[in-house]
Amino acid sequence: MKISVENNSLKVPDVVDIPFIEGDGIGPDITRATKKVIDEALRVSYGNERKFNWIELLAGEKAISKFNTPLPDDTVNKITEYRIALKGPLTTPVGGGFRSINVTLRQKMDLYANVRPVKYYPGLPSPLKSPEKVDMVVFRENTEDVYMGIEFPSNSKEAEQVIELMAKFGHPIRNGSGIGIKPISKFATTRIAKMAIDYAFENGRKSVTIMHKGNIMKYTEGAFKEWSYETSRQFGDRVVNETETAGKNMSGKIVIKDRIADNMFQQILLRPDEYDILLCPNLNGDYISDALAAQVGGIGVAPSGNIGDNYAVFEAVHGSAPKYANLDVADPSSLLLSAVMMLRYIKWNEPANLIEKAFVDTLRDKQVPQDLARHLGIKALKTSEFAESIVQHMSAR
Ligand code: NAP
Repeated sequence: MKISVENNSLKVPDVVDIPFIEGDGIGPDITRATKKVIDEALRVSYGNERKFNWIELLAGEKAISKFNTPLPDDTVNKITEYRIALKGPLTTPVGGGFRSINVTLRQKMDLYANVRPVKYYPGLPSPLKSPEKVDMVVFRENTEDVYMGIEFPSNSKEAEQVIELMAKFGHPIRNGSGIGIKPISKFATTRIAKMAIDYAFENGRKSVTIMHKGNIMKYTEGAFKEWSYETSRQFGDRVVNETETAGKNMSGKIVIKDRIADNMFQQILLRPDEYDILLCPNLNGDYISDALAAQVGGIGVAPSGNIGDNYAVFEAVHGSAPKYANLDVADPSSLLLSAVMMLRYIKWNEPANLIEKAFVDTLRDKQVPQDLARHLGIKALKTSEFAESIVQHMSAR
C-alpha cells in the first residue's frame, strides 16, 4: 500500500510500497546488499507485521535500453505517487539531449533540501585525531544559487547583452567573459531554514549554524544569513542567538549562529564538536558535505536524502563507479545508511537503530569492504559478504 498524507503528516501503512531505482555501475551490487539488510532488519524488528514491498522503477542505462530515455515519465510519476524512493547512483549519459535525472526529480517533486548527516562510526578510517567529535547534519538548499544553471558562454549573444547591461549599471565586465547568475530568494531560504530548525528540535540538537559568504556576496549569501536569522525569530525564545546565551537556561533551546564559509571549513576540522546542524546555500552545502564526509570514512559511507514537503528521495552520495560494476566489491554503506534515513523519515526507528548498531559491530570486527579495508590495512569483504555480516550481527543482537 502507498504512503498517504493526512493533516500534513505521512500516514504509513504496515506493508508499504517502496519504489527503488537500482542504478548503474555498482548500483545493482549495492542495491541488492541494501535491500537484504533492510528486509532482515524489518523482520527482526517487526516479525511479519511491517514490511517493505519493493517496486523497481527504471532509470539510467536500464531505461535507456528499454525506452531510449534515462528518466521515463512513468518513473517520475510513480515516485511522486508513492512519495518516497530509494535511488542508486546513475551514470550521467555522455552527449547532449538528456535531462539531468537528479535535477528533474528535484524540480518535479520540489525536493528543496539536500540533507546529509555526517557522523563518525567507530572503526571508520579518519584523518582526524578525534573523529568521534564529528556529528553534524548538513541542510543544503537544493533549488537555487549558481546551480540553477543560468550561464552564458564567453562571446555568446546573451553574455554580450548582460555585459552591456552591467556597463549601464556602472559595473564594467571584461569583454569575452563567461557569465553565471546566482539567485537566492527569501522564499527558498525561509523554507529550508525552517526545516533545519524544526529538525534540530525534533532530534534534540543543540545548534544551527548558517554557513555563508555574506561578507562578499551581500545580497545573495548575506541575504541568506539575514533571512535565516529572521526565520529563527519565528520560534520565539526557543531559539537563542549565540551572542545572547550568557546566563540563560538553554535546556530545550537551540542556539543559532553563523560562520563565513572559509572559516567554516577550518571549524569543522579544528572544533567539530561545536557544530551540529549546518544550514547552507546550495554551493556551500555541496562543498562542505564532501569535506565532512572525508573526515569520517569518505563518500562510500556518506548518506543523503533529498527532501521536500511530504516527498523524499534517499540516495547514495557517490556515483556509479563503473570500474567496480558487477565485481561485488563496492561499499554499500552510503546507500544502506540512506535507507536508514528513509526508515527514520517514515518513523520506523527500531529497524533503523538496529542496522546502525549492527553496522558498528561489523566495523568493530574489522569486516569491511575494500574502500575501507585498504585504509585500515586489512583484508576486504565482498559487497555481498559485508551485507551478510551486518545481517549476522543483527540477528546476534
Ligand atoms: P564515483 O562514481 O563516485 O566514483 C569515484 C571513485 O570513488 C571510485 O573510482 C572509487 O574510488 C570511489 N567510490 C565511489 N563509490 C564507491 C563505493 N560505493 N565503494 C567503493 N568505492 C567507491 O564518481 P565518478 O567516477 O566521478 O562518476 C561515475 C559516474 O557516476 C559518472 O557518470 C557521474 O556522472 C555519475 N555520478 C552520479 C551521481 C548520482 O547518481 N547521484 C553522483 C556522482 C556521480 P577508487 O577508484 O579510489 O577506488
